[in-house]
Amino acid sequence: MIDVIDAWLRLAASRLHDQAATLTALDQAIGDGDHGTNMDRGFAAIVASLDGARPDGDGELGVGASRLRTAGRTLISTVGGAAGPLYGTALMRAGGAIAALPGDSSGRDALLAGLDAAIGGVQSLGKGVAGEKTMLDALLPAVVAGRAASETGGDAGAVTRSMADASEAGAAATIPMLATKGRASYLGERSIGHQDPGATSSALLLRALADVVAED
Ligand code: ADP
Ligand code: MG
Repeated sequence: MIDVIDAWLRLAASRLHDQAATLTALDQAIGDGDHGTNMDRGFAAIVASLDGARPDGDGELGVGASRLRTAGRTLISTVGGAAGPLYGTALMRAGGAIAALPGDSSGRDALLAGLDAAIGGVQSLGKGVAGEKTMLDALLPAVVAGRAASETGGDAGAVTRSMADASEAGAAATIPMLATKGRASYLGERSIGHQDPGATSSALLLRALADVVAED
């Protein structure tokens, strides 16, 4: 877990940097064109904090949880707009949930509990539900798919792969949706026909997690 969380945040930062223009273009279509730069800036700050910080948790789960909490706080303090506080709260809640698990919990169970809590954080802050053309349309199917993979005996690799696959399908499924939350909702019908930038970055984050776990 120690290395998985650290490696995930770093891989996510590098992919967000590479995809910043694409995410910004999506946000130009239905928002204000800052999602790519927001995420790039926030995750670059996370990497800088990882380089400087000594995590203070106990054991592998505790250290991973500490990294997630620090990353969440960093996002909230470096990224304005909707996505910084939403993703920041998500990471902090994920860290809190993992820290509360029994120390002998599996990495797979920790990742599932973390994603579940992350979604709870996004929903408590943003008051969103499925079908509103937001990051939740990538995240909610991911936790359902991850749980199903776990219940049929999948290991952390299978669970995170299912999460990533479902989030990519969920992000693509936002294209025909009408936005009813966030800035894109101001466009009304004109939001239809574009993929949601936040759902796209959520899918990127979960694919990075699956790729890191696959190499673990
Ligand atoms: P802003 O909209 O403030 O410019 P960003 O462009 O960084 O912030 O992020 C936009 C993304 O935030 C949207 O694509 C959407 O996925 C997500 N979002 C906005 N509002 C909400 C909400 N209430 N719940 C969940 N996600 C939201
Ligand atoms: Mg924006």
